[in-house]
Amino acid sequence: MTKSNETGWNLDNSYARLPEKFFTSTNPTPVSSPELVILNERLAESLGLDVSTLESEDGVAVFAGNEIPEGALPLAQAYAGHQFGHFNMLGDGRAVLLGEQILPEGERVDIQLKGPGRTPYSRGGDGRAALGPMLREYIISEAMHGLGIPTTRSLAVVTTGETIIRETRLPGAIMTRVAASHLRVGTFQFAAKWGTVEELRTLADYTIKRHYPDVEADENRYLSLFQEVITRQAKLIAQWQLVGFIHGVMNTDNMTISGETIDYGPCAFMDAYDLETVFSSIDQQGRYAYGNQPLIGGWNLARFAESLLPLLHDDQEQAVKLAQDKISEFNEIYHSNWLAGMRAKLGLFNEETQDEALINGLLTMMKKHGADYTNTFRALTFDTMEDSVLFGAPEFVQWYELWQARLGREQESKASSTQLMKNSNPAVIPRNHRVEEALEAAEKKGDYSVMEKLLDALSNPYAHSEEQAEYSTLPASTKPYRTFCGT
Ligand code: AMP
Ligand code: MG
Repeated sequence: MTKSNETGWNLDNSYARLPEKFFTSTNPTPVSSPELVILNERLAESLGLDVSTLESEDGVAVFAGNEIPEGALPLAQAYAGHQFGHFNMLGDGRAVLLGEQILPEGERVDIQLKGPGRTPYSRGGDGRAALGPMLREYIISEAMHGLGIPTTRSLAVVTTGETIIRETRLPGAIMTRVAASHLRVGTFQFAAKWGTVEELRTLADYTIKRHYPDVEADENRYLSLFQEVITRQAKLIAQWQLVGFIHGVMNTDNMTISGETIDYGPCAFMDAYDLETVFSSIDQQGRYAYGNQPLIGGWNLARFAESLLPLLHDDQEQAVKLAQDKISEFNEIYHSNWLAGMRAKLGLFNEETQDEALINGLLTMMKKHGADYTNTFRALTFDTMEDSVLFGAPEFVQWYELWQARLGREQESKASSTQLMKNSNPAVIPRNHRVEEALEAAEKKGDYSVMEKLLDALSNPYAHSEEQAEYSTLPASTKPYRTFCGT
């Protein structure tokens, strides 16, 4: 046992009280010589944890899985999922849930180790993670948080002192992930396929209590749960689209019930605007392309609905009807969130029917001229337009006049519109070449200063500060960027 009280760990594992089928108690496999390479101090403090104790040998031993803090009950969660459309039994193959940190207001957040060794769900894998992908998840999830997008967080990364074998030998690492929970659409798919209806109900009630307590007293609380998840996911995916985030592997096991972004494997941010953008090397059909994400969100939620059917109504025909009526609302909720976000990106406070045409006009020109998505919107927040192929095009000049006229019809001042735009268009996103540069310095030289500086710029992307300007530079190389699943 570590000095949990000094550190501030206040753990319980309510998941371990669910029916046994949903998890397997699993201890992390100890590692030889753990070293803390990055700690999210602000996040630690918000969790009631003491930074200097976390940095001590005892603190690091917890992040390494070498010590189990008091109150924790390490387990691997069982889940299933549709991977690229194909249903599989999965589960935490390289993750162990220590438990939930209970915050002063009673809220619970999961504390999970990613890369702690084999579990009963590891199949052929080693249960381990490499340093690069863990740092990459750290950077991108923290960037998402900075952008104001619901996401799992990264508390710490430790190197294990051990080598793992992939295509080459790589330094092993473990990331400590913080999440509202790790309940996934795939958790419900698992329960529906291998559990009894009562076990499924227990899982749904647990989920409601944890994430949606307001629906507990509803007449059909399971239908309300479905509605809530539809709303959260529709909003989440709209936020992804608005900043050009491409998740890359929207399998149903990588979709949370809480509405947080999870599992930063092959994700990346789009540079030039193109609905067909795909970064992941394994997504050869473009199933999870930028423009498909809303569609896939709806598809995944339909799988969630199928899992909930036995709870929605005793008569399965009625249950299907209820689910279908709800799922048909997804597109509408998504679209209204997207439209509201796009209006804000253009500095529009009120609504006019032609707004969508104005927005699409801009996007169409961006596609045609290969314009950078983030930088184009960023440039619109400036008083004078920069030189670019897009901004020099006669059709853009025409569009710009229409937009200015539209802004002129607003009650609010030009200054308020500009402020709204600055708050809605990030000055900095985790550009792929910047992320790579930070990872290279860390992996090859043990130099974390590049990463720290990048994280700093990403922590408040709407500041539009002078220091952030350098992060808007595009990569010198036009070679297509490729990402790989972080295994
Ligand atoms: P992901 O694509 O990261 O969402 O992972 C899909 C599935 O593969 C999950 O069940 C993971 O737990 C499992 N998995 C990924 N990497 C490993 C690994 N190195 N060892 C064991 N299982 C893994
Ligand atoms: Mg996953």
